[in-house]
Amino acid sequence: MTTAPATELAATKSAHIKKVAVVGGGTMGNGIAQVFASSGFDVELVDARPEFVEKALATIDKNLDRVAKKQGWDEARPKSVLARIHGGTTLDIARECSLIVEAVTESFELKKQIFTTLDTVAPADAILASNTSSISITEIAAVTKRPTQVIGMHFMNPVPVMGLVEIIRGLATSDATYATTEELSKRLGKTPVEVNDYPGFVSNRILMPMINEACFALMEGVASKEAIDTVMKLGMNHPMGPLQLADLIGLDTCLSIMNVLHDGLGDSKYRPCPLLRKMVAAGWLGRKTGRGFYDYTPA
Ligand code: NAD
Repeated sequence: MTTAPATELAATKSAHIKKVAVVGGGTMGNGIAQVFASSGFDVELVDARPEFVEKALATIDKNLDRVAKKQGWDEARPKSVLARIHGGTTLDIARECSLIVEAVTESFELKKQIFTTLDTVAPADAILASNTSSISITEIAAVTKRPTQVIGMHFMNPVPVMGLVEIIRGLATSDATYATTEELSKRLGKTPVEVNDYPGFVSNRILMPMINEACFALMEGVASKEAIDTVMKLGMNHPMGPLQLADLIGLDTCLSIMNVLHDGLGDSKYRPCPLLRKMVAAGWLGRKTGRGFYDYTPA
């Protein structure tokens, strides 16, 4: 009997996954849908309201044109990628998907509802992944009857550009689920990194306290927003300053993550900056609302 080489075996772990669902078509969800479709998967993109779905599809359309120009795609390719994405407003579409990636707003209550429903509609062998930035994968998994098949698939923003997928193993996540998700991430052209389930994982455990500290520095008048961002860009070689990055991520998302770190780790060093809280209360959420630390309204 001959044995298949290891690489061949590895390439079969995710071969059955041809159709995926992405739940939530906002900043992250539309990027995740774009990346899957660009890699040849059929995608069901679900958002809460038809107008949100339309907006997500229009964003993907625009972004695909940009990629096509940059990478010299042939003329027909952007539309053929877009045609692989089907929009909708009901989770019923998960019935036909072997992987569902949830990317709704960062709220445990909301994710709990979504995972409870997905667990009842998705095929028994489907993997349920969350793109959460900080919520416990173990807790999300516990609301389902398939905790071994629940995993964190944490893409970075902007998804089509950033190379990392932080893969988070909940306490019950099986080795098979991890292996499939890791291989799948490679099929998307990403670099997976294995991380255990603790508040903020690795990325936000380190990134968010830096952003929060930048908010404190601004609030205390240590320097202007431009000065803070310039120090970190030119002094630390960061591609963008922490306040610009907060605007890109969304200040509501930043605040939720700080709350998760604070609650989960119980250390006052993770307390969210009052200025961050105030801006979120005002609805100044960053680029997505046209105003955050900077103004994005068209001149
Ligand atoms: P967003 O606010 O841009 O998008 C959230 C989307 O979820 C919206 O389109 C909203 O309409 C949709 N939604 C809300 N309730 C829904 C429901 N019941 N059914 C279907 N859709 C629903 O948020 P985002 O920045 O895309 O974040 C999504 C997730 O990704 C969060 O868990 C966040 O922590 C995580 N994340 C965000 C970033 C980032 O930089 N923004 C990076 C990595 C991970």
